[in-house]
Amino acid sequence: MNKNCSNIMALSTNTSNKRETVCIFGTGDFGRALGHKMIQSGYPVVYGSRSTQISNLIPKDAEVLSHAEAAQKAAIIIIAIQRQHYNFLIPLAEILRGKVLVDISNNLKLNQYPESNAEYLAQLLPGSRVVKAFNTVSAWALQSGTLDASRQVFVCGDDVEAKQMVMNIVRALGLTPLDKGSLLAAQEIENYPLQLFPMWKFPIILSFSLTAFFFFYCLALDVIYTYIYEKNNFSFFIAITIPNRVFPVMALILLALVYLPGIFAAIIQLYRGTKYRRFPDWLDKWMLCRKQLGLIALAFASLHVVFTLVSPMRAFVRWRTSKGIISQALNNKTEPLDNTSAWISDSYLALGILGFFLFVLLGITSLPSVSNNVNWREFRFVQSKLGYLALILCTAHTLVYGGKWFLSPSAYKWYLPNIYILSLVIPCAVLVVKFVLIFPCIDKPLTQIRQGWERNPKHSE
Ligand code: NAP
Repeated sequence: MNKNCSNIMALSTNTSNKRETVCIFGTGDFGRALGHKMIQSGYPVVYGSRSTQISNLIPKDAEVLSHAEAAQKAAIIIIAIQRQHYNFLIPLAEILRGKVLVDISNNLKLNQYPESNAEYLAQLLPGSRVVKAFNTVSAWALQSGTLDASRQVFVCGDDVEAKQMVMNIVRALGLTPLDKGSLLAAQEIENYPLQLFPMWKFPIILSFSLTAFFFFYCLALDVIYTYIYEKNNFSFFIAITIPNRVFPVMALILLALVYLPGIFAAIIQLYRGTKYRRFPDWLDKWMLCRKQLGLIALAFASLHVVFTLVSPMRAFVRWRTSKGIISQALNNKTEPLDNTSAWISDSYLALGILGFFLFVLLGITSLPSVSNNVNWREFRFVQSKLGYLALILCTAHTLVYGGKWFLSPSAYKWYLPNIYILSLVIPCAVLVVKFVLIFPCIDKPLTQIRQGWERNPKHSE
């Protein structure tokens, strides 16, 4: 008796858990991949297609009917068809009235049409409830199960109930729905898959241009100049010596460029006496890509560390060391340890190691998995206070290492300054202005402005 009872209970639970039939229009790549995933998650799937012949590519257990027949079997219809074919839906308007239509389409170009595909679908079928979803998930990821990178599904729509129904399906497929609001957000969601690292464009172009500039600058001074005036062929410098000069210079400049927009913002706010006016566009864009600039700087710093560590293996370095030993042996004289040089070399190494450690710490805390676990104050402490400390240490590392060239006339080949002198211009400027900004007479009004105080309030009572 008891056993029967539990069987009945299990049956009734199963019945209530039974998923509603979902209809998919289109048996193309995406329609098939989504249908397959839905069947795996327990949804009965019915396809609406121009041809009702079942091919072996269609997930088994799925039915294939005409569009009109299939639409009548479900409350939710996923339109897995390109936008340019949407006209075929107009004759089905009556059957589709009140149904939830999920637009999953993408375009080939950014802002290809005046309105989003989902809004266009809603205009074609005003009696249906259109929801945008799934367009950022690829058919390949759905089929192969490699959804880790694209687990988020952006959902938007004007009908809250319809949106909720679609979000429930998204969850049932093991994905994470992210409500983006009304159908107006569809344009933005449709643009996502077409964007190629939008935040990385400026940092990458800047890094390439500066790297190329410094590389050719070093090539001219260290290889071409030496060849012309000293008749030494140092062309092999191109492989390690020059890159290992360019990498630290790039790391330092890019790190300084992470903090420079903050300095500009502070000066602008002080000048305007308010924080309620927008920054110029270029500054806004620059601020938004600080993380990317910092990560590229970290990549350059890491390359500098690796290139420095392999230095003792280089034939040129081994030759120079043995030349020094042999000349001491020939002269029968051991050079005494130069205490000043020992101090300088130990100091710049120590400063470099500490600077790199903080650099890595900044990189780690910028990872979403880490930054999500610290509060805003902790994040600011690491990114601002420790960031500035990293900049100070790295600037000091370069100053101590390259300082000897500042006053030596031989450093000014073709009257051009050494690359280390150039690399210090922006970091030193950032540190000097930051130092001025933390003076209480400047910091106090700036803090007040950032807390909402205005010098000439527009909306005074
Ligand atoms: P597809 O392989 O070319 O399939 C499109 C399907 O649309 C066809 O199989 C066909 O299904 C139907 N169709 C074609 N012409 C039609 C017409 N004149 N009238 C009615 N139905 C027609 O394309 P897909 O890759 O599956 O992409 C479908 C949609 O999903 C597109 O809007 C795309 O932007 C979007 N999407 C695709 C992916 C992806 O990874 N592939 C990812 C996200 C979003 P029947 O033969 O069954 O009628």
